[in-house]
Amino acid sequence: MAEPLEVKSKRVLVVGLGKSGVASAQFLHERGARVTASDAKAEDDLRADIRTLLDLGVAVETGGHGERTFRQQDLIVVSPGVPTNVPQLAQACAMGIPVIGEIELASRFLRGHIVAITGSNGKTTTTALAGDVIAWGGYESQVGGNIGTPAISLVPEATDDTYNVLEVSSFQLETIQTFHPEIAVVLNVTPDHLDRHGSFDHYLAAKKRVFENQTSSDYAVLNADDEQAARMGSGIKAQVRWFSRKKEVAQGGFVRDGRIIHRDDSGEHEIMPASEVPLQGAHNLENVLAAVCVGMIIPCEPHRIRAAVKEFKAVEHRLEYVATINGVQFYNDSKATNVDATIKALESFPGNIHLILGGKDKGSPYTVLNALLQERAKRVYTIGAAAAKIEKEIAGAADLVHAETLDVAVRRAFDAATPGDIVLLAPACASFDQFESYEHRGRVFKDLVHALAEKKQAISS
Ligand code: ADP
Repeated sequence: MAEPLEVKSKRVLVVGLGKSGVASAQFLHERGARVTASDAKAEDDLRADIRTLLDLGVAVETGGHGERTFRQQDLIVVSPGVPTNVPQLAQACAMGIPVIGEIELASRFLRGHIVAITGSNGKTTTTALAGDVIAWGGYESQVGGNIGTPAISLVPEATDDTYNVLEVSSFQLETIQTFHPEIAVVLNVTPDHLDRHGSFDHYLAAKKRVFENQTSSDYAVLNADDEQAARMGSGIKAQVRWFSRKKEVAQGGFVRDGRIIHRDDSGEHEIMPASEVPLQGAHNLENVLAAVCVGMIIPCEPHRIRAAVKEFKAVEHRLEYVATINGVQFYNDSKATNVDATIKALESFPGNIHLILGGKDKGSPYTVLNALLQERAKRVYTIGAAAAKIEKEIAGAADLVHAETLDVAVRRAFDAATPGDIVLLAPACASFDQFESYEHRGRVFKDLVHALAEKKQAISS
């Protein structure tokens, strides 16, 4: 465990009252800190559970950040959704007030082992899978971080034997100090969140921080097929385990003759046939290989890893099958919030795809989709604020329908589709222009599809 942090009687400010902010404020209050919480949003736009904080006696400031609020603190805990260049934060830093993120706070209190999973895409899937692998391996494990349960909420259950598998984003890594995972996984690094990180180099640097406190007794698990992840292998102290679905690696997981193999100093172990992986798409094979490496480091027995993978179900909103209506299959990949994830989604089906694209633009080019669109898409339906930009960049690569809303997109796609076609929501954009979150967007999509199915049934009966 990292250096313990004494918070009793300390003045602590929690900035940002999303899920992890509320959990942090509550945790700190329970540990005897004098907690203030601040969010730029108005109270009505915030989570209902900030009422719990008020009931506990936490001072809550909403609708803006007071300068004085930030000055009078011993510690500031900043939520991942808050940009670190907020002026009040910068000033507090300049005054020497320590500013840390929720993942750093959690790591100061979490007992047991930390496995950190990061990357541009595949974090949630791999975190859930690695958690399952470790549990099937016979160890205590719990998953948290970006995946849903804030890392700080794992503290009460953790013992010295627990494996805490944490999904960590680049935003969370920006505000670490002593965060020290025994195993750190980088799945891939492709352009994402450039609107906030400013440049690819900054984004890359944030991801690389996951290794900064590791020593030679720790492990880095890296994707040998991903240019940026592969580069991270040099200049770090941890021992490297590689994974690749394209070539054999000296130490780590790979595929040979359709079989998943793991090799390390103890020799080669066959884990399972790749055909047994229950998830769609080559990208999910990469996630499985990463989880296999984690399992073998711990170590879990190969047949237990195989059982965990075989039993695994796709996480909601990640290439999730929704329904088949009149022979047309609908898939919800609302979590495809960047172009790389959309590429992976397109690659998961051989063709006849009606693709719904659009939402809030994140600053990466859509032109990289064009070759695949030409090859596999029957038509593209654009929605949301990024529609005009997307239409300009993919013009000529596929038939285009300016649908504006998800509702129109689903109806138009269904009208145009013929049996055997796929209607795929993999929007390559964030959701916040028209929805509260990608989960909300995915649920609306599924509701629209189910409503279509019911209407169809009513007509035919
Ligand atoms: P994250 O938590 O990093 O956003 P998820 O597991 O939630 O990752 O998946 C996000 C999106 O990326 C989904 O659309 C999913 O189908 C796709 N995806 C999953 N794994 C990978 C991967 N290894 N490489 C690229 N895309 C992936």
